[in-house]
Amino acid sequence: MNLIRKDHAIVLGGSMAGLLTARVLSKHFQRVTVIEKDAFEERRVVRKGVPHGHQLHIVLARGLQIMEAYFPGLTAELAAGGAVVSDDLALDMCWFANEGYRPQVATGLKSVMLTRPFLEKTIRKRAAEIPNIMIADGTRVAGLCGDSDGQRITGVRLAGRPEQELQADLVVDTTGRGSKSPAWLAEIGYPQPELEEVHVKIRYASRLYRRPRGFRTLIVTGGQPPFKARQGAVQPIEGERLIVTLHGRGSENPSQDPAEFEAHARALLTSDIADVMEGLEPLGDIVTYNIPRTRWLHYEKLSSFPAGYLVLGDAICALNPVYGQGMTSAALQVEVLDRLLEKRPLNETFWKPFFKQIARVVGVPWQLTVGEDFLYPQTEGIPPSMPGVVAAYFRRLMQVANGDSRVFQALFNVMHLVKQPTSLFHPNIVWRVLWGKQPSAKEV
Ligand SMILES: Cc1cc2nc3c(=O)[nH]c(=O)nc-3n(C[C@H](O)[C@H](O)[C@H](O)COP(=O)(O)OP(=O)(O)OC[C@H]3O[C@@H](n4cnc5c(N)ncnc54)[C@H](O)[C@@H]3O)c2cc1C
Repeated sequence: MNLIRKDHAIVLGGSMAGLLTARVLSKHFQRVTVIEKDAFEERRVVRKGVPHGHQLHIVLARGLQIMEAYFPGLTAELAAGGAVVSDDLALDMCWFANEGYRPQVATGLKSVMLTRPFLEKTIRKRAAEIPNIMIADGTRVAGLCGDSDGQRITGVRLAGRPEQELQADLVVDTTGRGSKSPAWLAEIGYPQPELEEVHVKIRYASRLYRRPRGFRTLIVTGGQPPFKARQGAVQPIEGERLIVTLHGRGSENPSQDPAEFEAHARALLTSDIADVMEGLEPLGDIVTYNIPRTRWLHYEKLSSFPAGYLVLGDAICALNPVYGQGMTSAALQVEVLDRLLEKRPLNETFWKPFFKQIARVVGVPWQLTVGEDFLYPQTEGIPPSMPGVVAAYFRRLMQVANGDSRVFQALFNVMHLVKQPTSLFHPNIVWRVLWGKQPSAKEV
């Protein structure tokens, strides 16, 4: 086995997955270069490469824990910039789901409420302060460079006339949903990873408002499968603002028209969101974002792959964002990379355990979200093969969680990716789910 040197690593994409990857690689490599196609401009808050930056982004507890571990003091820095820190998110939520309200009980799970551009900008500033990280913005990667027999990636080609080459010992693709890795790998003779796609037909619509003094609650109004796909959320964010995000599926999608946006909020299963919006001052237009499909590229199933190359983040698995797990999934993947670089030699087979472990990490949120997606008739694709008895158990658990704090706490931990779904099969929880009282819609 030939060891790969750890002099220079290149990270493609300077967004959430890219910046966290750069932080980890800075521990293991002499130099790290992050290549981002967008030029970072102070005046442009939401940039072209991350158009979903206009939409509500929740940072789940596990994601925040990992971000804080890699950038100590991050939460305090975000709070100092105006983000709303919740020391126990379940206590600061008004959450309607499964025909009732989730209990407001302590879970100890911390979160931070802010905009996606503000989170990314703060992490980018922290990453740029690390002496061996260099961020090259306004630079687009056009393709890969390989050695003569195509066994190894040796760097990248940077777009321009003429194109330039930048050499590296390791290249990590974190360019998100539009990742060109499958095409780039095919160009040098490698097979394409298997693509698993679910057509969810979701549209987001978001608008910013001035926040009433003292408002610190995260309001979430869920849908009711199979027929009620309309959902929404209100999140307090930095700058004394609120973000209202509505979404639906297929014909139940929200629009950019202010009157229709308000009507969509009124048509949700509770008036919680519409009531908050009433009389608030809007701070801009309604911005929409379509999510026609979610996808998972199964790199872990490949039998050949070049040395010196990895893929991470949305570039591997772009989840349904409705469940707010994308950034946390990226953070968990980055932890896998860190652990493997600590434990294993970086050689030409490093990609095998890497992609296997990544599949385990992304498999959890993927199964959780896809299972729910297929409860809605708008969804097209191949449903996950979950035994009927397990699916029925989950359906009942979702209901029981509204009236049983212990079951809710267990569920909240799984949804925040703090605990594994297997924890929901602990005998204490199973007993409560199977024999506990299921709250009626009237009681909750
Ligand atoms: C509508 C919506 C709402 C979401 N809400 C949440 C939420 O509430 N909570 C949550 O955790 N996650 C949420 N997500 C998911 C989250 O945004 C992503 O999972 C997360 O940011 C990880 O993305 P990434 O860094 O892998 O890719 P991206 O954020 O897509 O970034 C890719 C980067 O690569 C750059 N790039 C692309 N091509 C090139 C190239 N050729 N050369 C150089 N640079 C390139 C792009 O400019 C961009 O900066 C949401 C996503 C969407 C779409």
